[in-house]
Amino acid sequence: AKVAGRSQTSFFNPKMTRDLVRRREIEDELRSAIMRDELSIYFQPIIHLDTGKIHTFEALVRWFHPEKGELRPDEFIPVAEETGVIVTLGNWITAQAAKACAQWPEHVSVAVNLSPMQIRAPGAALGIINALREANLDPHRLELEVTESLFVDDNHATAVFMEELSSRGVRFALDDFGTGYSSLGYINSFPFSKIKVDRSFVSGPNVGKKTDAIIRAVAKLGSQLDMDIVAEGIETIDQVQSVREAGCTLGQGYYFSRAVPDYLAAMLLTQESDD
Ligand code: C2E
Ligand code: CA
Ligand code: CA
Ligand code: CA
Repeated sequence: AKVAGRSQTSFFNPKMTRDLVRRREIEDELRSAIMRDELSIYFQPIIHLDTGKIHTFEALVRWFHPEKGELRPDEFIPVAEETGVIVTLGNWITAQAAKACAQWPEHVSVAVNLSPMQIRAPGAALGIINALREANLDPHRLELEVTESLFVDDNHATAVFMEELSSRGVRFALDDFGTGYSSLGYINSFPFSKIKVDRSFVSGPNVGKKTDAIIRAVAKLGSQLDMDIVAEGIETIDQVQSVREAGCTLGQGYYFSRAVPDYLAAMLLTQESDD
């Protein structure tokens, strides 16, 4: 009886109820949010640590909800994944990102995050090829960011998808490196050209001698395998210096810029070409 009583109180916990209601609303409204034009793609620069110039822009989705305000992807991407909406949403994001990139100078690429479910959907590779074709974007300028969660099962479908696209020139980055299983087997078996070291190794309370040594080791691996190593979450000049010294070639973080709307991304590039 005691256990039942406890679970009842937690069932009627007002915060839980509010969270559930909010989740349901997000679920219901997400499908139509694209049509209502509430979603936008923002772009965060990834910088050459040697030259300070922009190498890539990472596409990060934003939802400007008429009542709830700005929703972060961490709140609605998981809902999109659970409901399957991620497939439609993901195709839209890739198409928007490719269109934006086609307006930039040729040496600048765009990076798009892919959820495992998108990759396993039928015709996944074709959706990306079509987005490239429609935007008239060279496949070499598209990079797809995936996390290790992709490899927990069904590696065959993943391998087929990655081979199909990388044979056309699309590149792949291993995102959030260091937070999951970080098996070097993935780097060996799949065609990655970039590793993104998670920001928990770069800034925040856990950064120190140990994380420094880990970044150094990953950077060394990268240079020997001819892969770029990106340090994520750089917030201070000290962090720029330490990841550079550790051997990272590229950096991303609030120190350089937050994610910005496409017209500001274009302005950052114009400023660079004027230098
Ligand atoms: P992520 O792919 O690891 O993206 C980096 C996140 O770190 C972004 O958060 C970015 O704004 C944030 N960030 C960048 N620099 C700094 C920094 O210096 N300090 C701190 N504290 N944070 C920094 P955001 O945009 O909220 O996205 C969160 C996550 O949502 C992304 O993590 C990604 O997993 C997912 N996501 C975002 N856009 C998409 C998308 O279009 N498709 C999919 N499937 N997932 C997305
Ligand atoms: Ca990412
Ligand atoms: Ca990341
Ligand atoms: Ca992340």
